[in-house]
Amino acid sequence: MTPIQANGYQVYFHESGYKALVQLLQQANYSGIFILVDEGSHEYCLPSFLANLPTEIPIEIIEFESGEAHKNLHTCLEVWNALSELGADRKSVIINLGGGVVTDLGGFVASAFKRGIDFINVPTTLLAMVDASIGGKNGVDLGALKNQIGVINAPKMVLIEPTFLETLPQNEMRSGLAEMLKHGLIYDRAYWQEFLDLSALDFDELTRLIYRSIEIKNEIVLQDPTENGIRKALNFGHTIGHAIESYFLEHPQKPTLLHGEAIAAGMIIEGFMAWRKNLISPTELNEIKAVISDLFEPLPIEAEDVLPIMDLLIHDKKNEYGQVQFALIEGIGQVIINQTAEKEEIKEAFTYYRT
Ligand code: NAD
Repeated sequence: MTPIQANGYQVYFHESGYKALVQLLQQANYSGIFILVDEGSHEYCLPSFLANLPTEIPIEIIEFESGEAHKNLHTCLEVWNALSELGADRKSVIINLGGGVVTDLGGFVASAFKRGIDFINVPTTLLAMVDASIGGKNGVDLGALKNQIGVINAPKMVLIEPTFLETLPQNEMRSGLAEMLKHGLIYDRAYWQEFLDLSALDFDELTRLIYRSIEIKNEIVLQDPTENGIRKALNFGHTIGHAIESYFLEHPQKPTLLHGEAIAAGMIIEGFMAWRKNLISPTELNEIKAVISDLFEPLPIEAEDVLPIMDLLIHDKKNEYGQVQFALIEGIGQVIINQTAEKEEIKEAFTYYRT
């Protein structure tokens, strides 16, 4: 598979990825390799990764506890201390082997250690492959505030090995799938249509779909590296999705949501808003709801949850001049950014989702 040229680095696949990695390690003549993992990627991905990495350069493994709750400065401090104690220097390289938590945190740790050392991302979840692999965003959470501390900095390369996904739990797979559906809805109708019937999905098909998803995100990011225009398209489903995510987090009686589960609901609700503004046809709206509902259970959003969820939209970081901003689809495969909506329209969209 041809590597994808991202902003300052390449995304490689499978064996060609391992070849590129070994070549890069040799050429850069690193003094040491530090592989950052959490317990999931340690158990399921590290053994096969190491088996494919013939190198004379000394390797150290640094593990931290998995989960968003550990994506914080405290964990960074532990990793910086470990690097220091293990003798990492300015010619060391960090390989982030794991989901989005490992690649986000590891990229940030590398960017600040000794004013910045090289890092390489090897995403092992579907979400990290199709989403976090592009855009150069690294960082950690500050208390409950997601991704508040961070930098934009490109990895030296990204290696995508889809066989890692064989051990990924179904709900984590679905979480990544939500972003792939979004890529089709905002950018590529033919790609979206591939998801209408996933019954024949085999491993090669999945790899091809991952490839196209990365290509789409990359094309969007390259058009708008400063995030002032078309890149906002990536927020489709996310304005409402993030509010639902925060609301569920604040209410312990609600189930814990994965990011993609909230975004899936967000895409149905924002899809309705697009229909209400005559941006998509009733057939398109029905298709979106049918495909997403086929993959995702409806979320337990009760009538009394709707207004408090809407109140959280005020905090959305994409708001401008006090107005909530949406990226909505304009027909399947196209997007229109900087859209606003009346409270009533949003309420109606929640009612549509709930019934
Ligand atoms: P995650 O990193 O928490 O991984 C989910 C779980 O899967 C973890 O328990 C992990 O140990 C386990 N795991 C990882 N690989 C596995 C494998 N191959 N087999 C079995 N288990 C495995 O979650 P995630 O969904 O990958 O990432 C979410 C994070 O990504 C969030 O913090 C989000 O902010 C970030 N993110 C960043 C970007 C970006 O542009 N930088 C984009 C999207 C998401």
